[in-house]
Amino acid sequence: MAEYIAHEHDVLVIGAGGAGLSAAVEASASGARVAVISKSLLGKAHTVMAEGGVAAAMGNVDDRDNWRVHFADTMRGGQYLNNWRMAELHAKEAPARVRELEAWGALFDRTSDGRILQRNFGGHRYPRLAHVGDRTGLEMIRTLQDHGIHLGLDLFMEHSVVMLLKDGDRIAGAFGYDRERGRFHLFRAKAVVLATGGIGRAFKITSNSWEYTGDGHSLAYHAGAALMDMEFVQFHPTGMIWPPSVRGILVTEGVRGEGGVLRNRDGERFMFKDIPPLYVNQTADSEEEGWRYTQGDKNARRPPELLTRDHVARCIQREVREGRGSPHGGVFLDIAWIKERLPNAAEHIKKKLPSMYHQFKQLADIDITKEPMEVGPTTHYMMGGVRVDADSQMSDVPGLFAAGECAAGLHGANRLGGNSLSDLLVFGKRAGEYAAAFAKERSLGAVNTHELQSAEESALRPFENKGSENPYDLQHTLQGFMQELVGIVRQEQEMLQALDRIRELKTKCERVSIGGNREYNPSWHTALDLPNLLTVSEIVTRAALERKESRGAHFRDDFPAKDEQCGTFNILAKKRADGQMRLIREPILPLPEDLKQIIQEMK
Ligand SMILES: Cc1cc2nc3c(=O)[nH]c(=O)nc-3n(C[C@H](O)[C@H](O)[C@H](O)COP(=O)(O)OP(=O)(O)OC[C@H]3O[C@@H](n4cnc5c(N)ncnc54)[C@H](O)[C@@H]3O)c2cc1C
Repeated sequence: MAEYIAHEHDVLVIGAGGAGLSAAVEASASGARVAVISKSLLGKAHTVMAEGGVAAAMGNVDDRDNWRVHFADTMRGGQYLNNWRMAELHAKEAPARVRELEAWGALFDRTSDGRILQRNFGGHRYPRLAHVGDRTGLEMIRTLQDHGIHLGLDLFMEHSVVMLLKDGDRIAGAFGYDRERGRFHLFRAKAVVLATGGIGRAFKITSNSWEYTGDGHSLAYHAGAALMDMEFVQFHPTGMIWPPSVRGILVTEGVRGEGGVLRNRDGERFMFKDIPPLYVNQTADSEEEGWRYTQGDKNARRPPELLTRDHVARCIQREVREGRGSPHGGVFLDIAWIKERLPNAAEHIKKKLPSMYHQFKQLADIDITKEPMEVGPTTHYMMGGVRVDADSQMSDVPGLFAAGECAAGLHGANRLGGNSLSDLLVFGKRAGEYAAAFAKERSLGAVNTHELQSAEESALRPFENKGSENPYDLQHTLQGFMQELVGIVRQEQEMLQALDRIRELKTKCERVSIGGNREYNPSWHTALDLPNLLTVSEIVTRAALERKESRGAHFRDDFPAKDEQCGTFNILAKKRADGQMRLIREPILPLPEDLKQIIQEMK
């Protein structure tokens, strides 16, 4: 008989990042009794690391900006695989969500006349990112947290969910454990919101924190929800590459937004060599024009360093592959050069990019006001996730909602920088609202005791196994070959090899064995994260094999061109009744006339 501590709520939110807290605040404000669970302490969720800002077409810096331009930019960035309804809602609602955050106490940087300041970012036509220096995520989390605590949320910090529970087709709650003491907990709830973030820890080089093991993706998949667009993993062009201990840590796009330029070993600004046709009309054709854009000249077009992340990452990789890279296998990102243009450049850089200044000074002994940084691509963001209804954020499983990085749809084949924080606010709030409404109409679902028993047995198996499979070794192996075989540039033979290796690791994972007991045991946590990492890695690889073209973040060496036919569907992954994975090509619904017209106008 399973032993656990039981809790009952109307709405259970799994995740305390921007999406989870937005959902919890909204559900609580609607009168629901809400619990929030997070693997880490409150305030430590990955959102806290967000740097550059939150995208919202408020038009404070350039009054030509409005929701229509933001919508068109998001669709173009996503290569038109986006759920257009989500892109529309997001563009329309983001400004109100930013103002709401301000009303709750967030202190954004200001324009000289006192409005919220907005900065340039890749793929956004106008300066659009509301920000707090380069620490926007911290301010967002702090504000949402303060607000949520005053609403009376029940918080379960340092707890991990290992299984979602169902009553027939609908959700009934979740089963998990507290990471300090290792006690099991049963969370019964009428509705569950998944807000567990991304999957970056499936790869070796990543900007993502230890929490990003794809738990929500995997929990939803095993509970019967469809995952969508899983082939689209974003490799951010600029991560630190030296020294090796800090490899992968993000260098915000804000550096390029403030005038930073990319150069190869020969000092060439190589981004000017390769402008994709979709962006030719919007890209500067001289260094002079690019600089003027970063300084707010409304008649200038943006420099090619601010093209979409997928493209910039591939250009960097090309420079390195063709022998024009920096000493440690990246390229140079130079913001120090602006001293040629601005009298107080060093102070300006420190004010605009304080975290970057400290990050390089402390971790790499580089003063970015004086010398260039060495950077290279790093696994950053998951466009794919739980397929949800655009308005309500409910998945295929009644009562199971998803928001933020673990949900799919808004970003299509590639996310624009800044569009994640706005995604969390807009769709987190929507998920909370609809989850509370769903809960209001229902009673608690029944819990199947056999299911609980089996969840408990499988969680404890690593203590009983007597083999020599070590969870850290398996995780390390997985990250290594996912990086090599399913990374920025992909091809069929390598991905088939990755699938074989995932299969092998799954067998080893069954035999994984750990020592110690349930209290304060990081090997146990790693052993329980592993099946999630393996599930998402398999789905990423299968979906990437299925998409036989190159589009957005997904680049196939064996199919280097975009294929018109492939632009008509999203790929879904669903678990069949026999436990096997099924991939479905789901046709994209045609755009309504009014939205089609916006895209035409903004070309
Ligand atoms: C360095 C960096 C800088 C970034 N800068 C920007 C930026 O400037 N602008 C922008 O728009 N985007 C940015 N992003 C992306 C953005 O920060 C993330 O996409 C976003 O914060 C994800 O928020 P979330 O609420 O979905 O998840 P998170 O903030 O990651 O929260 C996930 C939560 O789920 C919990 N959780 C996970 N699994 C479980 C489980 N099994 N049981 C219980 N709890 C669980 C975690 O503990 C955590 O509380 C950046 C990302 C990085 C890495």
